[in-house]
Amino acid sequence: MSDRGCSHLNAITAVKQPQRRECGECVKIGSSWVHLRTCQQCGVTLCCDSSPNRHASKHANATGHPVIASAQPAERWLYCYPDDAFCEY
Ligand SMILES: [Zn+2]
Ligand SMILES: [Zn+2]
Ligand SMILES: [Zn+2]
Repeated sequence: MSDRGCSHLNAITAVKQPQRRECGECVKIGSSWVHLRTCQQCGVTLCCDSSPNRHASKHANATGHPVIASAQPAERWLYCYPDDAFCEY
């Protein structure tokens, strides 16, 4: 396997896809989002850092789940928050 930039990204063998195209946390509080990201540890889909609530980033910080995938249909990439590592798949 090629080196994707960090051990967290290298450990991803099957990329988790979003079960729902919405941020569950934003839906709860009646907020909106810009883009969606899917946690590669637990599979939850949350909003990106361009969104007002940055739920994916907060989730990564709070849980220690380091890697997200874009949940945008046309985008196929992974990102590791603690290592600031990015790769396409
Ligand atoms: Zn990493
Ligand atoms: Zn959100
Ligand atoms: Zn998670």
